[in-house]
Amino acid sequence: MIKARSYYNCSKCPAYCCSIYERVQVTKRDIKRLANHFRVDFATAQKRFTTTWEGEQILRRKADPIFGKACKFLDPKTRQCTIYFARPQVCREFPARARCAYYDLLTFERSQQGDDTVVPLVQITFRNGEK
Ligand code: SF4
Ligand code: SF4
Repeated sequence: MIKARSYYNCSKCPAYCCSIYERVQVTKRDIKRLANHFRVDFATAQKRFTTTWEGEQILRRKADPIFGKACKFLDPKTRQCTIYFARPQVCREFPARARCAYYDLLTFERSQQGDDTVVPLVQITFRNGEK
């Protein structure tokens, strides 16, 4: 199988996608995967690793040194996922295209600032149907 080319490098990114979204949705299948990974039962995994937001089941978050808050499974130093093989489906699919807008922003600002270590801080929120 030919792997589609991508234009981002997660290993050089401070993990915007694991930090700036307040909600990472999880399905029952995702919770089962987490339960298997941590060798606990479904109810324990659901309680320990997820919470609800307007009826949606989402991953819990924790304090983060760069973005203020991030997914509870993000390693704050390495910026890698600590449950990579057990991560939810939405994490596997992101960004679902050849480019990642956050990686583009990162490389753009690093080039603009002439500093390969700078991290532009980003916050994202959604407002439906309003102009
Ligand atoms: S924001 Fe984009 S480049 Fe950064 S870790 Fe997520 S998918 Fe990878
Ligand atoms: S589970 Fe892993 S990949 Fe998904 S948001 Fe959390 S740290 Fe990122």
